[in-house]
Amino acid sequence: MPHYEYFCKVCNKTFTLTLHIAEHDAENPACPHCGSHNIEQRWSTFSAVTSRKSA
Ligand SMILES: [Zn+2]
Repeated sequence: MPHYEYFCKVCNKTFTLTLHIAEHDAENPACPHCGSHNIEQRWSTFSAVTSRKSA
């Protein structure tokens, strides 16, 4: 399962979601803390082993 790390600009919190690729491409997920879509994706260091694509 791919992990996606996000940072919420509203809560100033980082959270990790596990999503299917299709789900991820469909739309921006919401922050689990406040429900805002005002988030930006971070590239999790946990997945650096499996995906070495240059971001
Ligand atoms: Zn939030």
